[in-house]
Amino acid sequence: MRAELEKLIGAAAVDERAVRDLWPLSVMEVRDGKAPPRVLVARPSGREQLTAVLRWAAAQGMAVTPMGGGSGVCGALAPAAGELVLDMGAFDRVLEIDETNLTCRCEAGVNGYALEQQLDARGLTLGHYPSSLPGTTIGGLIATRSSGQESSRYGSIEDMVLGLAVVLPDGTFAAPRPGPRSAAGPALHQLLIGAEGALGVVIGAVLRVHRQPETTVGRGYVFGNLASGLECMRAIMQAGIRPLVMRLYDAEDSAFSGYDVAGDECLLVIATAGLDGVARAEGAAVKRFAGEARDLGEEPWQRWRRHRFDLSAERLKTFLQPAGAYLDTIEVAAYWTVLPQLHERIKTAIAVGGLALCHFSHAYEQGCCAYFTFGGSGDTEVDARAAYGRAWEGAMSTALELGATISHHHGVGQARARWVADEMGGWMRVWRAVQEGIDPDRLMNPRAVGGAR
Ligand SMILES: Cc1cc2nc3c(=O)[nH]c(=O)nc-3n(C[C@H](O)[C@H](O)[C@H](O)COP(=O)(O)OP(=O)(O)OC[C@H]3O[C@@H](n4cnc5c(N)ncnc54)[C@H](O)[C@@H]3O)c2cc1C
Repeated sequence: MRAELEKLIGAAAVDERAVRDLWPLSVMEVRDGKAPPRVLVARPSGREQLTAVLRWAAAQGMAVTPMGGGSGVCGALAPAAGELVLDMGAFDRVLEIDETNLTCRCEAGVNGYALEQQLDARGLTLGHYPSSLPGTTIGGLIATRSSGQESSRYGSIEDMVLGLAVVLPDGTFAAPRPGPRSAAGPALHQLLIGAEGALGVVIGAVLRVHRQPETTVGRGYVFGNLASGLECMRAIMQAGIRPLVMRLYDAEDSAFSGYDVAGDECLLVIATAGLDGVARAEGAAVKRFAGEARDLGEEPWQRWRRHRFDLSAERLKTFLQPAGAYLDTIEVAAYWTVLPQLHERIKTAIAVGGLALCHFSHAYEQGCCAYFTFGGSGDTEVDARAAYGRAWEGAMSTALELGATISHHHGVGQARARWVADEMGGWMRVWRAVQEGIDPDRLMNPRAVGGAR
């Protein structure tokens, strides 16, 4: 097999190794001695080679999983023995930054942080800042339906993608649709945003970019309790303000993050941005909406900014190193009216191990994402996995019961496989039909969006 692949794309572009993303359960299993299998990894250069590899894999009946930065946290990237991984690292060119039309054309393997740096150098931004940005690729960010720290202003990845260049499992090439918007049929490229490598391989994207704001005004406010902080966020969004960053930490998360709070107090870190006068006027409006909240000045914002990428993959792995340790995050989203109850019940469900934190970010006029962090340690690896599983079970069943989505931006993979059909309902039939039509042999990532039929 390896020799055949080497003939197609050259020996230097073929490797054999274990491949896993950063799903904490995988990391825990590896720690417990369950080493993942070594699989063939192909790193094609260019569309022709990639198409040849896909056709070759199809002829072998071999499952193929595209790989970006490997920073996914849901186990979508977890090939089994005998499968093939498609390393997109050679698709690493930024092809065009159009400063007049504010678009950027790049390949799917481009690193998210590197792209942002290139845009920054021209006074532009994609505005997509997941905490993992330095470890991501554009293809992975698209395939997981990701969302970043500045989503309240710039939107999530689906708002940034104008078009996609895709190779389907049978080798069909589909190019980005033209122009800033199109009504020539449905926006079918959207099917691949969040498809986790099922349906096909994203090889490039046309992205909407923005001019950097002239001024940013950031502050921290301390609210007496979570409810008043959430009400402030809702009022800000519904007044039409689109903060660059808006994050409300619950009492435990505020204290854990080392802010000056006591009892039920919750910290809101918020920044407005735009033309100088607009950013300042919106900052003043935010202060009015914050009402009685204690104004901590700029320091919380400056501090958050300095540490925005601190939770790196390495740090996550360090937390998970000691035997029996578990740590994970669960991001759900709901309407404003549901959030207080959702927060209370999920906090109770995940508190099994001691650490249970939550912050609210990615706000909309209609609601917000609630991002939980939980952790603890078991006496044995089996105990740790059981406690970890109970926390997930509690969080997912609560979300479904209260009408929240089970994932705001991490995706499904294997982590949410048990619950995805409960959320999708009849749409699961549509998803399966699309899969059946495009990939009848189900060769593209068997662990995408909940995996097996
Ligand atoms: C510390 C930490 C913080 C994080 N913070 C955030 C956050 O703030 N917001 C957020 O949204 N996510 C966050 N994540 C999750 C993760 O970074 C995202 O899911 C990211 O989008 C994955 O990109 P990647 O390139 O690493 O993809 P990978 O992990 O390599 O792959 C993810 C999925 O995409 C598929 N895929 C990859 N490339 C392609 C392609 N070219 N074509 C088709 N399918 C493809 C893979 O098959 C897989 O199913 C965080 C992760 C960590 C570890």
